Amino acid sequence: MGQPALCSIVSTDSPLPATAPWIVLKFGGTSVSTAARWATIRALAHGRRAEGARVLVVVSALSGITDLLKAASQEDDVGARLVIAEQIEARHVELAHCLELPQSAQWRTHMDALRHIVQMETAPADLIPWQASVMAHGELLSSAMGADWLHAAWLDARSVLRASDQPNQSERMQRFSALLETQPDPRAAVELAGLGEILITQGFIARDVHGGTVLLGRGGSDTSAAHFGALLRAARVEIWTDVAGMFSANPRLVPDARLLRRLDYEEAQEIATTGAKVLHARCLAPLRGPRVPLWIKDTERPQLAGTEIGAEAVEASPSIKALSMRKGITLVSMESIGMWQQVGFLADVFAQFKRHGLSVDLIGSAETNVTVSLDSSENLLDSDALATLAADLAQVCRVKVIAPCAAITLVGRGMRGMLHRLQALLAELGGQRVHLISQSSNNLNLTFVTDESAADALLGRMHDLLLQSGALRADDGSIFGPSWRALYAAPMADTGSPWWRAQRVSLLRSAEQGTPKYVYHLPTIRERASALRGMSAVDRWYYALKANSHSAVLRELARAGFGLECVSPGELAEASAVAPETPRLFTPNFAPRDDYAAAFDAGALVCVDSLFPLQKWGDLLAGREIGLRVDLGVGVGHHEKVRTGGSGSKFGLPLADLPAFLAGARRIGARITLLHAHLGSGVLDAAHWAGVYVQLASLAEHVGTLRALDVGGGLGLPQREGEWPLDLAALDAALWDVKRAYPQFELWMEPGRYLVAEAGVLLARVTQVKDKDAYHYLGIDAGMHSLLRPALYGAHHRMVNLSRIDAAADSLYQVVGPICESGDVLGTDRRMPAGEEGDVILIEHAGAYGAVMASEYNRRGLPAQEILE
Ligand code: PLP
Repeated sequence: MGQPALCSIVSTDSPLPATAPWIVLKFGGTSVSTAARWATIRALAHGRRAEGARVLVVVSALSGITDLLKAASQEDDVGARLVIAEQIEARHVELAHCLELPQSAQWRTHMDALRHIVQMETAPADLIPWQASVMAHGELLSSAMGADWLHAAWLDARSVLRASDQPNQSERMQRFSALLETQPDPRAAVELAGLGEILITQGFIARDVHGGTVLLGRGGSDTSAAHFGALLRAARVEIWTDVAGMFSANPRLVPDARLLRRLDYEEAQEIATTGAKVLHARCLAPLRGPRVPLWIKDTERPQLAGTEIGAEAVEASPSIKALSMRKGITLVSMESIGMWQQVGFLADVFAQFKRHGLSVDLIGSAETNVTVSLDSSENLLDSDALATLAADLAQVCRVKVIAPCAAITLVGRGMRGMLHRLQALLAELGGQRVHLISQSSNNLNLTFVTDESAADALLGRMHDLLLQSGALRADDGSIFGPSWRALYAAPMADTGSPWWRAQRVSLLRSAEQGTPKYVYHLPTIRERASALRGMSAVDRWYYALKANSHSAVLRELARAGFGLECVSPGELAEASAVAPETPRLFTPNFAPRDDYAAAFDAGALVCVDSLFPLQKWGDLLAGREIGLRVDLGVGVGHHEKVRTGGSGSKFGLPLADLPAFLAGARRIGARITLLHAHLGSGVLDAAHWAGVYVQLASLAEHVGTLRALDVGGGLGLPQREGEWPLDLAALDAALWDVKRAYPQFELWMEPGRYLVAEAGVLLARVTQVKDKDAYHYLGIDAGMHSLLRPALYGAHHRMVNLSRIDAAADSLYQVVGPICESGDVLGTDRRMPAGEEGDVILIEHAGAYGAVMASEYNRRGLPAQEILE
């Protein structure tokens, strides 16, 4: 190591012992650009020192300064370079003014050096070293100012960090994207400790083997901090930046992305390499050997938990950790008829990539084709480079270049063991142009290469599907934190404490009378009903009673002004018995003729969703007023099995059949007064129904006889941490936008779940606990026969141990029922207090599609139901 340059040492507390550990704090450009952020830096540095650690602060240049320096280094005109230097000086002087710092000699020396260097005339051979020296000044200036502000010892990073010699790299790469030597100098820690207890130095810069200045590439300050951390065998390296940590996807594209609280080095490396920008991909390697943990934290909100990266993974079931994306990917597809088993074909092909200096990332191969990807961040790709490569490759095979593409990568340890959870995601990708799929041999990632234009939208969709399928186990709080939206967006409206908390004692008492048991809280249903009735755009509401047909629930909703939407004669009979005056809508699917006849007799408005009834039962429909349910071509919702539109779904008349349907209806004199569509369930996007409304309204003129448009139900409720409740005001406003354009039609909606889900809980008792392999099972007396949703469509129901409501949730359980089916799992990876036989488990949001779907499978009997007024 070279001789460290020392400026000043100030220590306020009693001296630290020689054994005191180091903490390295790194602050990026935005974190050093304002006085407020510097106040945070001071609090953090002095706070760590007060905890008994030596502190090394590593800083980037003020934001924007490196760009200015780069511009100066590329400017031929000396006058223009000086103007840029003045701009840079002004930025620093302004910040110093805000910090009330006098200009120190240290800072002045660097500023003068910059002025001097930009005025130099440079011989072409010296251009690259000169440019590097110019660009190094951003960090020299910010660190000098920081030394004054923090009363810290100033350290020239170049005296410690040395780039390794890379004879195969171009001079430009060696100078601007240098790789640091990884052999730590054992004397370094002792020598740096001799400088003081709080030190400040520069990120991004180092020296080469000849002592000249080199740069570490964009984001290189992270790498500097990591190397210092490794060198000093630091207790940890803290990267302070403008976001709380690594997220499960780019939060700017996917606001529901979850904070990743804990990662091991390999997973974090994979996420950084495959697209996450928050951490420089090179900065983990140096820390892995000496096992120095790395934290990522938000400078503006230091109180937020960040990401901790370390050696040991948390004990948890396998989960996808992140979905990362790289754009600017070029695929080169090489086709050769005679390739199969032809010795040396791959060697010939790859030799061309080497000759052109292009590094290959992903590889897919088949009998007659090899396709590889080139990553624009690793390759200097332009159309000329590709054309010459393609020309050379054409000598050995047929070449096709596919670009621009995006690589979307699922990252998680043990990827192959999670494939069964990716059904829904793979189904989604089945409808996309996927050019290449590649699974890494380290079993950490699975990558899909698609068209770049589709990638942004696809990323959010894929993330949703990973959350919904439980492949990304956001409910495991030891790994995943809140969503970006929950951390940074306007705070969520307080939905208050769930009703059952106040009823805990009576629920426990009720459970003593027998479990499993559904309990419904009517006041909650009333609240939901009145919230919906408050939406002025909707003219008529129907309750989809398939969600919960308990007579007390039906009575309550009929009283609140809801019509009843039924799908079977049984439901129609229940509706007639409970609320004979209430309007009824009958929207069955593949029902027999007699069902339709019964519905007409019962006075319901009958909805038809195929040509068949018109063609075959013309006598039944002749002269009637009917509704028509159409398929708008797509389905929506939280799971494939709740999507009721699109080519894979059995519901609705395909639009291609609309002319035939209209002609058939005219022929028999059936009047279509209602046009209906219901695309799926569990929708949280307030814009969805206005989209359906517009499509129905634009079809309405073809129909001619319509009175009303029914945009279905499907209003969702947040099921997982970080999901956002449906914004009813936004939904109402969006509906009004359409209604103003089509005032001639009434607007109808027919929710089920939204009205009743939260009002119901399922109470069950713990039967047995068992540890098996890595899993801890909590057995309860409710199973898939009592609540089918988890087994049927992977539904997530929050659950709590009502008997131990305040105990620490320190066990990770698979919550299972007593049914002889492997699918009899009500919840996976639930953090709960350790349970004991007889404990009462409460399962939330069980008021919809709970008891109505229960069966007596295994002859276990139906669950009881109870009403709370
Ligand atoms: N309307 C129709 C035609 C349905 O099929 C359903 C549910 O299956 C609903 C309304 C109610 O859906 P949700 O309970 O999700 O609001």
